[in-house]
Amino acid sequence: MRKLIIHLVIMLSFFCMNELQAAPSLEKQPLAQTIRAAISDLTEDNAAFTELKPAEHFHEFLDIQNPRVTMVMCSDSRVQVDNFSQGAENDIFVARNIGNQFVTTQGSIEYGVDVLNTPVLIFVGHSHCGAIKAAMGDISHIAPAIKKELQTLDVKSAKDDKQGVILNVHQQVGKALADFKGKMKEGKLAIIGAVYDFRNDYGYGNGQLIIVNLNGEKRPDAIRESHYFDGLNHVTVGVPATLGSPK
Ligand SMILES: [Zn+2]
Repeated sequence: MRKLIIHLVIMLSFFCMNELQAAPSLEKQPLAQTIRAAISDLTEDNAAFTELKPAEHFHEFLDIQNPRVTMVMCSDSRVQVDNFSQGAENDIFVARNIGNQFVTTQGSIEYGVDVLNTPVLIFVGHSHCGAIKAAMGDISHIAPAIKKELQTLDVKSAKDDKQGVILNVHQQVGKALADFKGKMKEGKLAIIGAVYDFRNDYGYGNGQLIIVNLNGEKRPDAIRESHYFDGLNHVTVGVPATLGSPK
C-alpha cells in the first residue's frame, strides 16, 4: 500500500501542477465535453489562422524550410515558442521532450543542425520543470517508457529544482558541444543554453528568457561580451550564483 501511495505521489508531482490546477474545472464538466471543447479550440483556432493568412503567405516555404534556429524545449505545456518568438514559422525547427534533452531527441537535433544547417542551436529549460523535479528523486516506480527518458537526466547533485534546471541546461549544451564541436569552432554554429522563467524563480520577472550558457561559457560577463549580443537591448544573461550550478 505504501508503495502504491509513493507511486501516486511521484506520478502526480511529475505531471506538474497544470493537471492539478485543472482538476476543479474538469470535475465540473463531463469528460466528453472537455474533449469536445479541446478539439473545438484546435479546429476553431486553425480556422481563424487560415482566414488570416492568404495562400501567398505559404508560397515561400511550400517545398523547403529555411529555419535559422534549432530549438530543444521541454514538452511542458506552459512553455511555448510563442512566448519568445513572434515569427517561428519557417524559422524555428523545434524538438521537444521531457527535460529538454539532447540524447532523447538527438536525431531531430542533428537534422536541424546538420541537414537544415541552422546556425543556432538553443536548449530551453524552464522553471518548475516536472522532469527535473522527478529526476532529482526516486524514479524507480515510474512507468518504464517515462523512466527511460528521465534516466538520462543527471541532476541529483542540485540542491533544489531551480539549480537542477540550470545544471541540466549546462549538461545538454555540453552534450551538443561534443557532437557539434567542429561546427562551433568554425563559427558555423552557436550553441545556447537558456531558461524560460514563467514563475520568476530567478528574479528577472515572469516570462523572462534567460541565457545561461553560450558555447560552453557559463560566466555571465563573458557571455555578455560575445559579439553575438552586440547592439541587442533585451538580452538577459545569468542567474544569481546561489541558483546556478552546484560547485
Ligand atoms: Zn519541463
